Amino acid sequence: MKVHLIKSQELVPDRYWRVVKLLEKYNGPISFISAEPFANESISHYVPATWDEHLEKCRKYRDAYFVDNDDLVILLTSRPNFPNWFIGFSEFPHNDFFVHSDDWDLFVDCEQFYPIAFQIALIPIRKQMFGHYQFAKEYFHHPTRGCVQDLCKNKLEIIFKFRTADFCSECIEIVKKTNVSNDLFNQISEILEDIRPNFLSKTKIEPDKKPSRLKVTDDRVNNILLTDLNNLKIPFSPLEKVVFLIYLKYPEGLTVHEFCERKKEIAYVYRKLSNTDDPTIIRDRIDNLTNPLSNSLSEKISRIKQILKKLIGDELAQHYIISGPNAEKKMISLDRSLVDWESKIL
Ligand SMILES: [Zn+2]
Repeated sequence: MKVHLIKSQELVPDRYWRVVKLLEKYNGPISFISAEPFANESISHYVPATWDEHLEKCRKYRDAYFVDNDDLVILLTSRPNFPNWFIGFSEFPHNDFFVHSDDWDLFVDCEQFYPIAFQIALIPIRKQMFGHYQFAKEYFHHPTRGCVQDLCKNKLEIIFKFRTADFCSECIEIVKKTNVSNDLFNQISEILEDIRPNFLSKTKIEPDKKPSRLKVTDDRVNNILLTDLNNLKIPFSPLEKVVFLIYLKYPEGLTVHEFCERKKEIAYVYRKLSNTDDPTIIRDRIDNLTNPLSNSLSEKISRIKQILKKLIGDELAQHYIISGPNAEKKMISLDRSLVDWESKIL
């Protein structure tokens, strides 16, 4: 089976080529084939596409290059999609796909081409296991069990799938029952197994360690790094980062009311960090975050907690999460002598 990898215009070429080079070196029944960028367009990287917009590129490529119906065409794109899936697929002819090829630095602490190649390698074996990809969808596991078929509704859980690179016993049964050849299974397993260590090394945490120093970097995105954990980056979205930084700045803690009173300061920081330039979107988000009647702030606080627990474990996370009784001051308990404000943002 041939798998044609096509690149959307806006994707950085280096990332595309590293995916191709990685996948093409494995021998077996699947040949991963590179193709020149097909679509010639200039669309903002940040504007989400519909699935059909992405898949249209596969269809055009298929027609222009007389691709065999049984071959797969996979578009690598850095444009997000509705409803924000990692992989999208066509209803017909069942063999066109796109793989979201950006923002992986939010989930993993390695180069982005590894998770992209991992996701792509799974497509042909899922096709063999389930026929139409639509059926594969029905067999996705939820909750997460550390199998390559995990759905990962909470996107941060995808790291477990990458770290285990494993087929659970239920999936192995399907592999045996369907027409997945040993050669195909071995080729894909070998790829996954080789990629897997890249997700492990930098995020290994010793559970009983004392809290790490924390640095807020002096660059455009103001990364938050755990200095003593190999500069592990905390993967916050811009809004989560704003909330975290505000609480980090006020060690005595803030009530919801006190947080909302700092709207000007919050707006200033968010404008610096936001990845949108649209003033209306920015204003709406700030209004929402600083409205004491909205859930936005408490959602960000629980998301921050969730991200930290996943990243460094429950025990260590306690030093960094924003906690406190409802309707009273909430605070980050971290000893502030461990904080290095390299950034001048606050
Ligand atoms: Zn499974």
